Amino acid sequence: MEMGCDGGTIPRRDELVRVKKKPEAKDKDAELAFKWRCCTITQEILQEPIVVCHLGKLYSKMALIEALLDRSTLPEGCKHIKSLKDVKDLKLTVNPEFKKDEDKREGSLDNRAVPYICPVLGLEMNGKFRFVAVWSCGCVFSERALKEIGTNTCHKCTKPFENDDIVIINGIDEDLEIMKQRMEIRQQKK
Ligand SMILES: [Zn+2]
Repeated sequence: MEMGCDGGTIPRRDELVRVKKKPEAKDKDAELAFKWRCCTITQEILQEPIVVCHLGKLYSKMALIEALLDRSTLPEGCKHIKSLKDVKDLKLTVNPEFKKDEDKREGSLDNRAVPYICPVLGLEMNGKFRFVAVWSCGCVFSERALKEIGTNTCHKCTKPFENDDIVIINGIDEDLEIMKQRMEIRQQKK
């Protein structure tokens, strides 16, 4: 008997891939791009120095400092930040393809080159790939690099780190639960 005889009704993978993106999917891309390119507080393009909080949200440090001076301006989702000790300065890897005036160009954010990449695999930090930051050293790389290399030594600066040091940047709800636990672990250590 012939195996997998299904009459050929199941589309091949390459046919599936060619299907055009639905408008909703495009909106989702734009939303993602925005999250990865803009400060959580100002909603404007991230300005260096860029920091991450325990929960993996990105901020322009200067904007965060201003918001901390007048906590009433701090958005509800950022109240877990009590001081600059609750954020980490990020060591990002510049994308050689990115030009500085890119941000002034017309068009939606998700169609442009992005300023940062994974130093190990070269993946763009555009919201399509998962990225992590190491709390102890501040380095940022893709989650794929973290998993593939599988050592507990930072891929960018070679400092050792623990699992609890990993912050998933802009993670999904399940990630957020883990990030909250790790935040508590860090705060207890202090
Ligand atoms: Zn590092």
